[in-house]
Amino acid sequence: MDLTYKKKNIYSSVDAAERKRIFDYCDGYKTFLDNTKTERESVAHTVAMAKAAGYKPYALGNKINKGDKLYYNNRDKGLFLLRAGSADVAKNGVRILVAHIDSPRLDLKQVPLFEKSDIAFLKTHYYGGIKKYHWLTIPLALHGVVILKNGKKVNVSIGEDAEDPVFYITDLLPHLSQELNSKTIAEGFKAENLNLIVGGIPAPDEDKDAVKKGALALLNQKYGIIEEDFLSAELEAVPAVKAKDVGLDRAFIAAYGHDDSVCAYPEITATLETESDQTILTILADKEEIGSEGNTGMQCVLISDILDEIAKSYGVNPSVLRANSKCISADVTAAYDPAFATAFEENNVGLVSHGVTMNKFTGARGKSGSNDASAEYIGYLRGVFDKANVIWQTGELGRVDLGGGGTVAKYIAKNNIDTVDMGVPVLSMHAPYELVSKADVYSAHLAFSAFLK
Ligand code: MN
Ligand code: MN
Repeated sequence: MDLTYKKKNIYSSVDAAERKRIFDYCDGYKTFLDNTKTERESVAHTVAMAKAAGYKPYALGNKINKGDKLYYNNRDKGLFLLRAGSADVAKNGVRILVAHIDSPRLDLKQVPLFEKSDIAFLKTHYYGGIKKYHWLTIPLALHGVVILKNGKKVNVSIGEDAEDPVFYITDLLPHLSQELNSKTIAEGFKAENLNLIVGGIPAPDEDKDAVKKGALALLNQKYGIIEEDFLSAELEAVPAVKAKDVGLDRAFIAAYGHDDSVCAYPEITATLETESDQTILTILADKEEIGSEGNTGMQCVLISDILDEIAKSYGVNPSVLRANSKCISADVTAAYDPAFATAFEENNVGLVSHGVTMNKFTGARGKSGSNDASAEYIGYLRGVFDKANVIWQTGELGRVDLGGGGTVAKYIAKNNIDTVDMGVPVLSMHAPYELVSKADVYSAHLAFSAFLK
């Protein structure tokens, strides 16, 4: 009898039919990716999917009835999907899945437009953890909303259609980079240089800021925007690239925003497709990349308000409902990258195509800032996944004391809810174009589906 534990490559045990299921599922995921580059687009797209599956809008204070399928849209930036099950919520609690739908990007500043040497630029303030040099010399699109002076909300999207122009941040040519190359990356690439080129043709009959005025005139023509309207805008520059298969065998998908769409999508499909008599709360959260702050982030009391509403509607004690609830905090983790092998500890990191990866803990140094799930809860989930024949693995972000990271897990757990981190391992995480294995995406769908049953 072999007493040893080994991780398993998913492809070592799948037949042609299962492989087709993996690839077909990932075609759906790629479509999702191309439609959900920002938190607002993720909410709008998911609401449409939920409506098609029979979900109805929910308002706080309304009674929730067994059998209801509801969605709560939090300010167009966060979303709660609620399935009110027939099972006893005092005994079984609520099954909670949380992923986040914000990704690292370049936000426009509030007074962004300026002109220098006959080029018009938009100034950005980066959002989330980025390597600044990644954002130079790649095509960028602008997504978001502008609230005009008259209160009207205008949706902006430039750079995604094949005929659209894109935006661009310059880099220094290698011929003149001798000084730059000897600097550290932090010294060499400054946030205040992340300025998008938006125009180069001067407006006629203007002697001052003519190029800036030219760009403004075009924005005014298309969206009715004047410069002051940037004050009440949320505009986000994201890579103007589509999701693509990678590799001769198409094993991988490259895309912007796998973190955390690659967990959000399996969470949504599991929620919409799984037959279950449990009460299910599926959350798409905003602001994870900047610490889950604000009223659209997971530190907001909204989750506890919604759990209270469920308890009230079912006539059970909310503390009991909370204590018996269970959560998977669905967020990505680092995949082992042989090009940067010393950043990882090989036995304790997610391997590509070895399945959705559970992180018992996250955090930095001595697990600081981590949720650190209990052995009992992991034991429970292990049983659930084994019963459903899900291939999954465990990992931690990387080598101890090299850095670290956090997720929303600890904010859910604070409600007295058993919570663990689990997500798809990603190569080049937080780069403008990240990479995942298709087998792992499907494994996440299977694991989340088993959890909801
Ligand atoms: Mn994440
Ligand atoms: Mn992230």
